[in-house]
Amino acid sequence: MLRDAIRSLAEAKIAPYAAEVDEEARFPQEALDALVSSDLHAVHVPETYGGAGADALATVIVIEEVARVCASSSLIPAVNKLGSLPVILSGSEDLKKKYMTPLAKGDGMFSYCLSEPDAGSDAAGMKTKAVRDGDSYVLNGVKRWITNAGVSDYYTVMAVTDPTKRSKGISAFVVEKSDEGVSFGAPEKKLGIKGSPTREVYLDNVRIPADRMIGEEGTGFATAMKTLDHTRITIAAQALGIAQGALDYAKGYVQERKQFGKPIADFQGIQFMLADMAMKIEAARQLTYAAAAKSERGDADLTFQGAAAKCFASDVAMEVTTDAVQLLGGYGYTRDYPVERMMRDAKITQIYEGTNQVQRIVMARNLP
Ligand SMILES: Cc1cc2nc3c(=O)[nH]c(=O)nc-3n(C[C@H](O)[C@H](O)[C@H](O)COP(=O)(O)OP(=O)(O)OC[C@H]3O[C@@H](n4cnc5c(N)ncnc54)[C@H](O)[C@@H]3O)c2cc1C
Repeated sequence: MLRDAIRSLAEAKIAPYAAEVDEEARFPQEALDALVSSDLHAVHVPETYGGAGADALATVIVIEEVARVCASSSLIPAVNKLGSLPVILSGSEDLKKKYMTPLAKGDGMFSYCLSEPDAGSDAAGMKTKAVRDGDSYVLNGVKRWITNAGVSDYYTVMAVTDPTKRSKGISAFVVEKSDEGVSFGAPEKKLGIKGSPTREVYLDNVRIPADRMIGEEGTGFATAMKTLDHTRITIAAQALGIAQGALDYAKGYVQERKQFGKPIADFQGIQFMLADMAMKIEAARQLTYAAAAKSERGDADLTFQGAAAKCFASDVAMEVTTDAVQLLGGYGYTRDYPVERMMRDAKITQIYEGTNQVQRIVMARNLP
């Protein structure tokens, strides 16, 4: 029922703008409005704070179905979870009430600020600093590649509070867009997910009350990593949705397109490609849903499973979307058809929330 509801909404209110959003590299406001009005923009927020209280699997299905028609739009529910999960996992009750309530209402989105210009895969090498001053912390630094920066009202920011302790000297904070000293860089000009703004976040002597710290001092990096264990599964869901969208489109196209006097779908060479695409998608789906169940239960092997789901599903998305372009021949290579957009969008799922090399490092360290 949930899938049917989201699919109808996505097809009616999000899909019609997907090509335009990509072409113009503009934020998918129509998608945000549609998701907010159906309470699907941040489904993971617990009911206690006015949220829909969806479990990890339901959240995955929402993201998958939105990504099936528009990958950029699927970053609305996905990044709202990524940005706010540190507060849900480690924040004080006051912090949860203060920030989860407007998020649930659709009054403000959340972004997640871990990466920096010189700290990507090695996120613990960050330089952004937070210095205690009485009842405040003062933050200075640059966060890079921040999804939905400028659009979001709230930012979870990881910053160094004790430079002698590396990852154990990092703390997490909630920073608001309206805090004095917060500003944003120009939107990055990207290969795909062009509708999702990616910008730098500048923190220039940003003074925030000390109670905006998420959890204890020095626990921010652990919270950031624990968050990724859960949210990598949402990237797997995004990849899965993109792949399914490409397969669905190609499946229809091969029935219509005639060469050598018959639909190309009649050729076994084409049928085998479609079979492989569907098989890979189904394997990715099973891995992703199993990981979502582990996320919900907090199983001990979540770290391995989340990394495996993200890595596998994103590789599948890249293969399937590339094959979808192939199935459309020359037409697939043009922007008159959606599969080249899907191929460009798929690529990022192999890169963010840890590249697939980093996922393999994570899996190798947590072998079942
Ligand atoms: C569109 C977009 C949106 C993003 N959104 C966010 C966001 O909202 N919040 C956020 O905090 N970050 C975000 N990121 C950042 C993203 O998570 C990083 O880009 C990613 O973690 C890789 O870091 P890097 O780009 O610095 O690459 P690097 O770390 O410089 O890696 C370069 C290459 O080296 C490889 N490599 C690095 N170390 C190793 C190793 N030990 N072994 C093997 N290979 C290695 C990598 O896999 C990669 O292939 C986003 C990035 C993009 C492009």
